[in-house]
Amino acid sequence: MSNENKSIHEFDFNLICEYFSTIERQGPGSPEVTIRALSFIENLSDESHIADIGCGTGGQTRVMAQHAPGHITGIDLFPIFIDLFNIHAGKLNLQAKMKGVIGSMDNLPFQEEALDLIWSEGAIYNIGFERGLNEWRKFLKAGGHVAVSEISWFTEKRPAEIDAFWQEEYPEIDTIPNKVAQLQKAGYIPVANFILPENCWTEHYYDPQVKAQEVFLRKYKGDKTAEELIENQRHEALLYSRYKAYYGYVFYIGKKI
Ligand code: SAH
Repeated sequence: MSNENKSIHEFDFNLICEYFSTIERQGPGSPEVTIRALSFIENLSDESHIADIGCGTGGQTRVMAQHAPGHITGIDLFPIFIDLFNIHAGKLNLQAKMKGVIGSMDNLPFQEEALDLIWSEGAIYNIGFERGLNEWRKFLKAGGHVAVSEISWFTEKRPAEIDAFWQEEYPEIDTIPNKVAQLQKAGYIPVANFILPENCWTEHYYDPQVKAQEVFLRKYKGDKTAEELIENQRHEALLYSRYKAYYGYVFYIGKKI
């Protein structure tokens, strides 16, 4: 196919949502990583207010609800994800701890200085790392934390093919020291950062997609858009296996001064 460089953003949103709603996570991550990131957050209590922005179907939110005190509001643009978020919460009897609402990360439904923690796994790229950190800060209480995972370069230089791919997909991709500097400039103390292990991409993200892709392609046999979407995902997974030494997801944790 000739669509190798087509950005996922150009595909039909309904199709994307349907595809991603069939898998546990909509981005790289794992329960272990969520718990590790949580370990850097101080001072949470049963009264804490937490926002999980770009929560998707809530894989990581359920882990947080089971491991952190306080109440979590999940925000996502897409109703189908929020429906699943609330259904899954109900099944685990977590509806008193986590509630999903439809909303956009560029227009959050919170009062200023209302939140103790802003969480966002694999989603801040939708608004941009710097813009998100700057705009979301006002919703945090002084001493509150932000914890976001973001695609980052591991090295100063990298092969042209992968450089071109990510420059096209997400030009804000940058090295870890540059991301930490942006976090600090946005008014947070850089508390911690760590690279997500490889199994967050394989075991928890790309591997479950193999089966989901077969089912999806069977359902949409002959549908060019659906076929291109899957081709695009497969291409991204192939690039990851080839160039994973050069990039990955990094968790960045900051504390509002
Ligand atoms: N945090 C989840 C989902 C990550 S995928 C996980 O790690 O599994 C990115 C998510 O951001 C998707 O669910 C997508 O619907 C959501 N999203 C995209 N643009 C958004 C916006 N403007 N506001 C809120 N959510 C958005």
